[in-house]
Amino acid sequence: TVLPPRPSRRLDGKVAIVTGAGSLGDGLGNGRAISILLAEDGATVLCADRDLATAERTVEMIVQEGGKAASVYADVSSEGDCEKLVKAAEEKFGRLDILVNNVGIMGAEGTAVEADAEEWDKGLRINVTGMMLMAKYAIPLMLKNQPGDGGIRGNIVNMASIAGLQGGTAHLFYPTSKGAIVNMTRAMAYNHGHEGIRANCVCPGFLYTPMVAGDGMPDEVRDQRRRQGLLKTEGNAWDCAAAVRFLASDEARWITGTAMTVDAGVTCSY
Ligand code: NAD
Repeated sequence: TVLPPRPSRRLDGKVAIVTGAGSLGDGLGNGRAISILLAEDGATVLCADRDLATAERTVEMIVQEGGKAASVYADVSSEGDCEKLVKAAEEKFGRLDILVNNVGIMGAEGTAVEADAEEWDKGLRINVTGMMLMAKYAIPLMLKNQPGDGGIRGNIVNMASIAGLQGGTAHLFYPTSKGAIVNMTRAMAYNHGHEGIRANCVCPGFLYTPMVAGDGMPDEVRDQRRRQGLLKTEGNAWDCAAAVRFLASDEARWITGTAMTVDAGVTCSY
C-alpha cells in the first residue's frame, strides 16, 4: 500500500489561541512550545499571557522562523480578559479554530488539613474556571466557521496532567484541579460534539519546564522522576506540544473527549 503523504503545514489557514503562551526568559514552557509548533504547521497563533513580555518573546521566536503570531495580555482568571482575548482573535484574524487552554499553576500547598482555602479558591479560578471561561467565549466564535473535514468547526485542547489521573503528590490542590480538567474536557466534548466542536486534553508527566525548574528542583529529584518513566528519559515541552499539535489538527478529526497521556508510560506502572 502507498502511504498518504505526511501532511506538513496541516494547520494552514487556521487561527489558534494559546493561553499561558509565555515562559520565563528564553525558557521553554509548554505554552511557548505549543505556540511554536502550531505556527510551524501554518496556524496564526494568538499568544496570550498575564506576563505580556513573555508572550511577546514567544511571538518574536515564531516570526523569526517565518510564522504568524500576535501577543495579547490576558489573565484567564478574569472573565473580561477571556472575552477580550476571543474578541481579539475575531478582530485581528476574523475567525477561531483552535483553543489551547494551557494555563495552570501549582496552587495551594499541602493536604486538606494544611491547605489555605483562599489560595485553593484562587487556584481553582485559574486552573479550572479559566478554561471554562475561555470556552464560553471561544465556542460561539468557532460555531461561525463552516464545517470542515469531518464536520468539525473548532477544537479545544485543555492542559491536564497525569496528576489528574492519579493521586500521587503531597499537595491536594494540583491533582484535584487537573482531575477536574480531565472530566470537564469529557463533558465539553459531550455538550458540543453535535455542533462539530472537539474537546480533548493532554496529560503530561514530569517535564522539565520553567515552572518546575523555577521551584529549584534538586538534581536527585529530577533524576528520580526520569527513572520513574518506562523509557528512562526526561520529557520536555516539545513532547507535550507535539501531542497538542496532533489533537488540534484535522488528522484527529474523529478524536474527542480523550485524555492523552504523554508520560513515558509512568501511568502504566503501579
Ligand atoms: P510555566 O510556568 O513554564 O508557564 C506557564 C505560563 O502561564 C507562564 O508564562 C505564566 O505567566 C502563565 N500564567 C500563569 N497564570 C496565568 C493566568 N492566570 N493567566 C494567564 N497566564 C498565566 O508552566 P509549564 O510547566 O509550561 O506548564 C504549563 C501547563 O502544563 C500547566 O497547565 C501545567 O499544569 C501543565 N503541566 C506541566 C507539567 C510539567 O511537568 N511542567 C506536567 C504536566 C502538566
